Amino acid sequence: MVYDVIIIGGGTAGLSAALYTLRGGLSTLLLEAEVHGGQIIVSPEVENYPALPKISGAEYAQQLLEQVESIGLQIKYEAAEAIEPQAEIKTVRTAYAEYQARTLIWAVGVSPRRLNCPGEEKFLGRGVSFCATCDGALYKGKEVAVIGGGNTALEEALFLAGICSRVHLIHRRESFRAEAALQQRVAAEEKIVSYMSAEVAEFVGDKRVRELRLQTPDGEQLLAVDGAFLAVGRLPANEILRPYVLLDDAGYVQAGEDCRTETPGFFVAGDCRTKPLRQLVTAAADGAVAATAAIAYLRGA
Ligand code: NAP
Repeated sequence: MVYDVIIIGGGTAGLSAALYTLRGGLSTLLLEAEVHGGQIIVSPEVENYPALPKISGAEYAQQLLEQVESIGLQIKYEAAEAIEPQAEIKTVRTAYAEYQARTLIWAVGVSPRRLNCPGEEKFLGRGVSFCATCDGALYKGKEVAVIGGGNTALEEALFLAGICSRVHLIHRRESFRAEAALQQRVAAEEKIVSYMSAEVAEFVGDKRVRELRLQTPDGEQLLAVDGAFLAVGRLPANEILRPYVLLDDAGYVQAGEDCRTETPGFFVAGDCRTKPLRQLVTAAADGAVAATAAIAYLRGA
C-alpha cells in the first residue's frame, strides 16, 4: 500500500500532524520508535498549554493519542532506520518492514544531551538518570543533584524537592535559562540548594554513584549524593536525513515556519527543526502546519 502520508515520530508534533492529516482525509501511518507522547511524558506538570491550566505530561500525551486514535490513527511502534524522501513515492525502512507514501512528515523530536565527563556512562541507570518523573521515587528522603539551568532542570528540581530531603541544583552559568516563574518557585523552595557557575567534572562511586566532583568558582568540591539527574538539554536525531536535507551546525533540520524542506513532499515538524521556541504549543502548531502543507502538496496546490 502507498499511504498519502507517513509521519515519523509520535510526540506532540507527530500526533498533532496525524490529527490534521486524518481529518483532512489522508491515509496516514505513524511510526514511533519508543513510546508515544515524546519528551512531554516525563514532565510532571504542564502549566503553560493554553486552556489546560495544569496537566501531567503523561496525561496530556495519553489524551492526545486517544483523540487521534478515535479518528482512525494507524500507529506502528517501529524505528525508521532509513528513508528515501526524494522520489515521488517515498520509502521508510524499519527493522521489520518497508513502507511507502506520497509525503513524509519528520517529527522525531530530540533526545537527552550528555555531559561527556568521566563516570557518566558508567553510572547511567546506577544513580545517574535523565528523568525525575520516572526515577525520582527511588530517592525518597535522599539527597540528589540536578544538573542544568533550563526549564527541564528547574521543573525536575521542584518535582524532586517534593520527594527528596535535599536537591542540589548545579548550573554552569551565573544565571538560569529557565523562565522567571520557575526561577521564583525554585528560589522559594527551601530544599533546593543552587550552585551557580559550577560544572560536574566527574561522577564518582562504586557500584552506584556516590559523589559529584564539582568545579566551582571557589575551586574543586566533592558533593555527596544518592542520585543525579541530567537535564542539560536535548539533541536532534536527524543524522539519517543528512544526505537529503540541510542540517544546521547543531544537527537541526533547516526549515522555516511553513515546515517545508527543499525536498518536495518532505516536511519537518516540532523540536527537530530549526526554530526560536521549542515548546509543547509550538510542536502542536508545527504538526498542524506540516499536515496542512502535506495536504496542499497532494492536491497540487
Ligand atoms: P535547555 O533549555 O536547552 O537548557 C539546557 C540547560 O543545560 C541550559 O541551562 C544549559 O546551560 C545547560 N547545559 C547545556 N550543555 C551543558 C553542558 N555540557 N554542561 C552543563 N550544562 C549544560 O534544555 P531543556 O531545559 O531540556 O529545555 C528544552 C526546551 O524545552 C526548551 O525550549 C524549554 O523551554 C522547553 N521546555 C519547556 C517546558 C515547559 O514549557 N513546561 C518544560 C521543559 C522544557 P546554559 O544555560 O549555560 O546554556
